[in-house]
Order: sequence, then C-alpha cells, then structure tokens
Amino acid sequence: MPAYKAPLRDMQFVMHDVLESEALYQSLPCFEEATADLMNAIVEEGAKFAENVLSPLNQSGDEESCTWNDGEVKTPEGFAAAYQQYVENGWAALSADPNYGGQGMPAFVGSVVSEMVGTANWSWGMYPGLSHGAVNTLEAHGDEAQKQKYLTKLIEGSWTGTMCLTEAHCGSDLGLLRTKAEPQADGSYAITGTKIFISAGEHDMAENIVHIVLARLPDAPEGTKGISLFIVPKVNVNDDGSLGERNAVRCDSIEKKMGIKASATCVMSFDGAKGYLIGPPNKGLACMFTFMNTARIGTAIQGLAHGELSYQGALAYARDRLSMRSLSGPKNPDGPADPIIVHADVRRMLLTQKALAEGSRAFIYFLAQQGDIVHAADGERAKKADDLLALLTPIAKAFITETGFESANHGVQVYGGHGFIREWGMEQIVRDARISMLYEGTTGIQALDLIGRKVLGSGGQLLLGFTGLIDEFCDANSDEALAPFIAALKQHKDEWLELSMKIGEAAMQNPDEAGAAAVDYLMYAGYVTLAYFWARMAAVAQQKITAAEGDTAFYQAKLMTAKFYFERLLPRTAAHKQAPLSGADNLMQMPEELFAF
Ligand SMILES: Cc1cc2nc3c(=O)[nH]c(=O)nc-3n(C[C@H](O)[C@H](O)[C@H](O)COP(=O)(O)OP(=O)(O)OC[C@H]3O[C@@H](n4cnc5c(N)ncnc54)[C@H](O)[C@@H]3O)c2cc1C
Repeated sequence: MPAYKAPLRDMQFVMHDVLESEALYQSLPCFEEATADLMNAIVEEGAKFAENVLSPLNQSGDEESCTWNDGEVKTPEGFAAAYQQYVENGWAALSADPNYGGQGMPAFVGSVVSEMVGTANWSWGMYPGLSHGAVNTLEAHGDEAQKQKYLTKLIEGSWTGTMCLTEAHCGSDLGLLRTKAEPQADGSYAITGTKIFISAGEHDMAENIVHIVLARLPDAPEGTKGISLFIVPKVNVNDDGSLGERNAVRCDSIEKKMGIKASATCVMSFDGAKGYLIGPPNKGLACMFTFMNTARIGTAIQGLAHGELSYQGALAYARDRLSMRSLSGPKNPDGPADPIIVHADVRRMLLTQKALAEGSRAFIYFLAQQGDIVHAADGERAKKADDLLALLTPIAKAFITETGFESANHGVQVYGGHGFIREWGMEQIVRDARISMLYEGTTGIQALDLIGRKVLGSGGQLLLGFTGLIDEFCDANSDEALAPFIAALKQHKDEWLELSMKIGEAAMQNPDEAGAAAVDYLMYAGYVTLAYFWARMAAVAQQKITAAEGDTAFYQAKLMTAKFYFERLLPRTAAHKQAPLSGADNLMQMPEELFAF
C-alpha cells in the first residue's frame, strides 16, 4: 500500500491561486477568520494526522476488517485510538456551528481535510464522515432542544452519527420504505423496522451513536410524500444530557463485502426504539436532502481520494520498475533497462490519473465554496451558489467516482502483475473505490437527477447559470497561449446546450429518451465541467509563468497536464454525445424475453 503523502502544493494552488479562498471568505461575514495563513496551518496539521496516524492503518484495517459479536462491533486495531486523537485534536468540530461548540471554519476547509483523511484511509474516514451529514441535518432542521442534546455531542465528536435510509427491498426508491413511527404519549415516537447497509451503525469508537432514521407515521401518504425523519439514539439521553438506558436498537449483523472492509456496514433493527421527529411530519425526505447533498460531495471526495492514492503508488512504481528500452533509445543507459515511466502507454495511464485527480480536486473545492456561500450570504449571491450546487452535485458525485474508479484500475495496471497482489495495496484501492459509484445514489440515479430534475426540470436555467460562468471565463482570457483551451471549452459549452435541447425535445415525445440518455449525458457534462476547471488552472499557471512568479516547474506541469486533458480526455465527449443522439430505441425495443438469448 502506498504511504499517503498529502499533495499540499497542489491543494494550496487550488485553494489560493485558482479559487482565491482568502478573498472569498473575507467577503463572507461569518468566515472572516479564515485567512490564507490559518487555512494553510489547518491543512498542514491535517496532513500530518492523515499521513502519520491514518495511512498506516489503511492496509491493516483491510486485512483485519470489522468483527461482530452479539450486537457489538469491533473495529480494527488502532481505529478507536485514532478516533480519540481526531476528537482530542478538535477535527470533529472544525467546520461546525460555533453556537454548538464548533470552530466555525468554512466547510471548504473541512472538505480539504476530508480529502486527506479519506485518501489516507477511506474506511476510517467513514465514521466521522457520516457524523458530518448528521451534524448538517441537525443544524438545518433540529429544534433548539435537539441541538443542545445531540448536536453538541456530535460536534464534539464524543458521539457519532449515521444515516438510516436503506431497507432490504429499497435503496434508490425510498418511497417504498416501511419502517414505522408510532406517536407516544410523551411526544416521542416508537420506531420499528429494519434498515440494512448502515455505515457506522455500530462500532467501538464512541460512547453513543445518533441514528438519523427515515420512517412513516401511521397516517402518512404513500410514497415519498409520507416519509418523516427521526433521531434515534443508540443509548437514550436523559434531560440533563447524561446517558440513560440502552434504546431498542440493535446491530443484527455486519456485511462481508468487496471493499472498505474496515467500515462497519450494519443491519440495524429498531424494535419500538424511542425516536424524536426532526422537522415537519412527512417532510423527511426534503430534510434528508441536506444530509444527502453533503454526503454526495463527500462521496465525490472518495473518487478523488482513490484516484490520488492510486496515482501516488503508480508514479513511484513507474519511476522504479525497469522494463525494456524506450522506443526512442535508452533513457537509463547505465542500467539493464529503462524505468517504465519512459513508455508512452504507462505515461498515458499516469497522466490520466493525474489529470483526473487534479481536475476533480478543483471541482470539489469549488463546490465546497459554493456550499459556504449558500450558508453565509443571502439574496442573489446565495441563490446563484445554490443553483450551481444543485446542477453540479450529481455531476461531481457520479463523474468523479466513475473516473476515480478508472484511475484506481490504471494504478493496478501500472504495477503489472504485482498490481493484482495484495501486498502492494493497489488492488485494495480498486476494491475500496467500487462502492463509491453505488451508495449515495448510484451513477444511474444521479444521471436521472441531472437530466430530469436539474436540467430539463429547470427549463435549462440551472445549466445556463453554469455555462454563463464558462462564458465569463472565456471572455476574460485572451492570452494566446490559452487559445486552444478556450476554443475547445467554448465549443463544448455550445454543444452541451445543444445536446440538452435535443434530449429535451426527444423526451417530450418519448420520456424513455431521458432515461436512455442520462448516464452518457452526465459523463459528457463531467468531462466539460472538468475542462472548465482545467482551463482555469491553466490560465493561472500561464499567468505565473509569464510573471516569472514562484515555482516554474510546478506551473509547467500544470500546463502540460491541461494539454493532455484537453487533447486526450476531453475528446471522450464525442462518444458520450453520440450515444444519446442514437435514441432510446436501441435500448428499449428489445422485448424483455429476448434478453434471455
Ligand atoms: C457498503 C455500503 C454502505 C452503505 N451505506 C449506507 C448508509 O450508511 N445508509 C443507507 O441508508 N444506505 C447505505 N447504503 C445503501 C446504498 O445507498 C444503496 O445500496 C444504494 O442507494 C442503491 O440501492 P439498492 O442497493 O437498493 O439498489 P436498487 O435501488 O435496487 O438499484 C439496483 C440497480 O437499478 C438501478 N435503478 C434503480 N432504479 C432506477 C431507475 N428509476 N432508473 C434507472 N436505474 C435504476 C440502480 O441504478 C442500480 O443499478 C450502503 C450500501 C453499501 C453497499
């Protein structure tokens, strides 16, 4: 397993040079403390924790996995101690509300730290990761008493959170869920039902677990309009905040699975457990969207994390491993063969990993900033950011996890046969990455959300908001050196609008056209979105080179990677455009019986 080294130079390039974070946060009243120096200091400390504490537990955690015994779950050796350290160092409170014990840093800084935590050890990061979503849900929808009782403990990190949506018969279609909530005389609810696949549902890292549970009230309408949201603590909490009796919620088993083996994936049964309504009755799914959006950006970070870690391993190996000679003559004449990094095909894989990881980093950090703008600004500024988040979150979640998985596979390939062998750790990255395209809404579900609700559902307005940003950027950048990037970006932006219109027209005649176009459309959108961020990074790199400012080699690498992205990855859009334009018939015409032949 490659030892993780946080790519601080690149992270700070994106944070400051590209996304100008200090200026942004100085313009948002509640984040004025977030100076560049403070953000850098936090990120550098986070890097030490990720590299020195979490990275060494990544492979051992996978080998040991979690174990279940009579309702209790034991996490791998070192996990609980690392969590203790995380809490003591204040990481759990980093970007939470100061009124409830948080440090009030922008969620953006939290995302940068989450990237490092997740890249060092994704399974471990799932435990505090689920808590972030619970914190956001309670901050947004909890009442004051709930915040005092539960939120403060989650922010402190002494308790963790979960997200209990999925049931055995339904994951994507939560309208089918059956867990019941019966009102009780004391104002609480008795929650009864079984949830499956609950990450961090039970573990030995914290004294209490706050389950955020979707369930139905007795008179609730059918489908998604009849779902409410509840807090169900593992251990009941007395009025003075002390822990009371064990609640009637239990972990019945944990799943044996392909990857993220050190993250406990639990079957949870609620047997008349005491629960408390969050937000209005029957509006649970809307409230849960707060949680899900956070979680979706969190899962996009997973795609970046696995792509980055795989790249770090592959790069080190490619510089070291000798095989044959470069086609254009020896590059290591004193050695018996050249290192494999001289070979074009190995470079193709490495540059794909590098371009995807760095582009995804800029994309994710930008999204995290939009979240902070929504939180801290108001009026038109907040609305614009909210609209960008609405459009770009499904793209980030699905595109970055799909390409993160591709990158993880390239990592195995660069190692040759050794990539398939456990000891090297590259196969673990592939196994760990696979889930990212499934949970928090599969790629197919994100794609339906993008084309249906976000693009066609807004009459194209959300898309025009983003293409407006692309236009502004293209108009503001006339440097000759950037011309190829700007031209390609403009062309793809126009094509994206045109493709959306054609799919919209076709879907008006036949709704299956939208479903048949969805995933290719999303991948198309992903490549163009990344092109926008690559063009922005290239523009900054070019300015720095022209001004002879700083570390020229770093900026040259940026420009060369941008060129690779535009010339070798962006053209993948051609296939993703062609597939939807071929229409739905080639998917929908075949009668179901014929699939059997
Ligand atoms: C390791 C792990 C951890 C998880 N953690 C959590 C957790 O903490 N909390 C939680 O609540 N859940 C969790 N989940 C559940 C996860 O979110 C679901 O598995 C996921 O949302 C998919 O639901 P499903 O498994 O029921 O698949 P289904 O919904 O049955 O989907 C099956 C396939 O059909 C496709 N499909 C379904 N409907 C449509 C449609 N309308 N159009 C096109 N395609 C469609 C899907 O894209 C998918 O390919 C976890 C799962 C795993 C494996």
